[in-house]
Amino acid sequence: MPRRIKKVAILGSTGSIGQQTLDIIRALNTRFQIVGLAAGTNTELLARQIDEFQPRLFSCSAEPDFGCAAQFLPMEGMVTDPEVDLVVIATSGKSGLYPLLAAVRAGKTVALANKETLVMAGEIILREARQHRAKILPIDSEHSAVWQCLRGERTRIERIFLTASGGPFYHFSPARLEQVTAQEALQHPVWKMGRKVTIDSATLMNKGLEMIEAHWLFAVPFDNIEVLLHPQCIVHSMVEFADGCVKAQLGFPDMRLPIQYAICYPERLSNTELPRLDLHMVQALNFQSVDEARFPCLTLARNAARMGGTYPAVLCAADEVAVELFLSHRTRFVDIARIVEETLEEHRAVARPTLDAILQADAWARKRANQISLRYAEAHPRPHKGTPVNDPGIAK
Ligand code: MG
Repeated sequence: MPRRIKKVAILGSTGSIGQQTLDIIRALNTRFQIVGLAAGTNTELLARQIDEFQPRLFSCSAEPDFGCAAQFLPMEGMVTDPEVDLVVIATSGKSGLYPLLAAVRAGKTVALANKETLVMAGEIILREARQHRAKILPIDSEHSAVWQCLRGERTRIERIFLTASGGPFYHFSPARLEQVTAQEALQHPVWKMGRKVTIDSATLMNKGLEMIEAHWLFAVPFDNIEVLLHPQCIVHSMVEFADGCVKAQLGFPDMRLPIQYAICYPERLSNTELPRLDLHMVQALNFQSVDEARFPCLTLARNAARMGGTYPAVLCAADEVAVELFLSHRTRFVDIARIVEETLEEHRAVARPTLDAILQADAWARKRANQISLRYAEAHPRPHKGTPVNDPGIAK
């Protein structure tokens, strides 16, 4: 019997995860067909991708400056197209929220890299997914690890251990942290990622967002999700079961592995282009607790998660604003946590919010975080003011 070809739509195809997804599809080209590609403003790369993969549909937020046979369609229309079997959501920030909801309501299988969507509206998304029998498959390496540890298990999870590299500044002193530049922060020591998630990794906000993502994906209480510093980035996360046994998933730290696992699921396919872990070269695997006093974003995320309601959406929005301001050299690295904290403190949360209430909280938080940041920008004017770090390869 001939193998069924998976028909795929990729949102955020010009970003880091999107490009790596296309690398895998290029290597396993007899298994996949691209139906739709969606990007932000990087129309030059999108045009090249359309030329190579010949999708029937495309989408971008900028006016396309190329002529092609593909039909322009907004992302919500693309993901609900009857031909699409698998939707890869590799956008960043809140931009993936409506397309994710549309895909879920159409009962699609979604490989999700855009963690902010689950942080903002996890309860609503999971409810809709259950109702419409949609599947959400994680691309995030930690969640892919937990998911792989759970295959074949039917018993309750006791605890999840999310591992964290610690980012490039984990051993910096508080004084040195104040001097960190956007260029330094964009150099992640291990993972190749988009710029928002790279900065979030350096502040450890990424691990806080991942804790909330894990809560929704695996229905585990926040207090049963622990973060462990693991500088080698070989163990991608672990699950402890009722009998005390702990399962871990190991692999070379390369995002293409969890991407391939998600898009090929339930199969595991050989791909000679992916690096293999050489266990003879791994001399030690270390795990330790995180120093949250120096990296307060993890505490902020945990508190926002416990308080629930619209707090996680405010956390996400304020963080997105604060990261962007840092990358455009207007505020300092250490101000990211302070801007997020002040925004959260001023927020009047709505319990069990509707989507509208979440979006209102998001809009309020963006505005307020921008206002709060002005004080930080004035207190510490940056030397490179006005020279934003451009990374057109990353979809927004
Ligand atoms: Mg991750």
